[in-house]
Amino acid sequence: MFIEIDAAKCMGHGRCYAVAPDLLSDDDEGFVAERGTSWEVPADLLDQAQEAADACPEGAIVVTATAPADA
Ligand code: SF4
Repeated sequence: MFIEIDAAKCMGHGRCYAVAPDLLSDDDEGFVAERGTSWEVPADLLDQAQEAADACPEGAIVVTATAPADA
């Protein structure tokens, strides 16, 4: 499974890295540091990836079975 974070949608609410501390981190402005990127999620972190996607009020995080085309 892959996670993709849309930089344009991220508003810096900080909910994602709060629920997925082993997968995501914050930058010095409160945005998720990994915004604008996508990568394959290790199997043991899939729960955190899905929780992060569910927690984001902007819908900026998507978890998909296939690699995003624009990666
Ligand atoms: S919860 Fe969503 S809007 Fe907030 S920092 Fe994470 S990706 Fe950005």
